[in-house]
Amino acid sequence: MIQDIAPHHFDNHFDPSRRPDRDSRILYFREESLFLLPDFSFPAARDMKPASGEYLFSLDGISYFLSIDAPCLPEGRFLPMGKMRTTAAIPRVQVFLAWTALQILRWIRENTYCGSCGNLLRPSPSERARICPSCGRTIYPRLNPAVIAAVTWKDRLLLTRYAGRAISYYALIAGFTEVGETLEETVQREVLEETGLRVKNIRYYKSQPWAMASDILAGFFCEVDGSTDIVMDRTELKEAFWAEKKDIILQPDDYSLTNEMMKVFKES
Ligand SMILES: [Zn+2]
Repeated sequence: MIQDIAPHHFDNHFDPSRRPDRDSRILYFREESLFLLPDFSFPAARDMKPASGEYLFSLDGISYFLSIDAPCLPEGRFLPMGKMRTTAAIPRVQVFLAWTALQILRWIRENTYCGSCGNLLRPSPSERARICPSCGRTIYPRLNPAVIAAVTWKDRLLLTRYAGRAISYYALIAGFTEVGETLEETVQREVLEETGLRVKNIRYYKSQPWAMASDILAGFFCEVDGSTDIVMDRTELKEAFWAEKKDIILQPDDYSLTNEMMKVFKES
């Protein structure tokens, strides 16, 4: 999955006292495009002027910063973030870091002013948060909990394709957790809403941070309970069917939890 970057060590502990040194990496976004050197690597602080920014995280002991002010740039290019995943020259670890950085940048951009009193927010001196100096409100990065549900019927797996997308790979049922709901109840509700099926024996599999949508995804396997007749929600899906193991077509890369769950079932 996208976060499986061993032997690299990712450390997201927030340390506001850190300042860039020569080897620190500086991530500079213009809208939703990221500046990269000609070989698609991240520029180091020694390549940028000014080499300043907000501390993001570290990888293998090297600090990463988000450049907020437009710096003087070396030779390179801005790559739209949508092309990160499909650019073969960019390794998984770099895609993971870039998307995680954009998730934090979006949160910063969306939290300039206090939603309660309208005052300008300030970075917290002690944690990854924004604080309102007027009313004291503290705003942390928002994560959206969501589930992936692999529904099985004997040796068949429920596959779907989402409606309204130009490129659409086979996927599993997915959806956001709503107020007052457990993750298991989200699985039951989403499967019922999208396919009309009821499920039982819901077992947690793994989770995944999905920075593209600020999600934290929780994957569950479950079994169909009762009728196997699919009544598809055509506003959400353009296809939903029971696939035998040999007919399960995996996604073109192994970044998603969905793909791993499809693979685990196919090879079981
Ligand atoms: Zn306020």
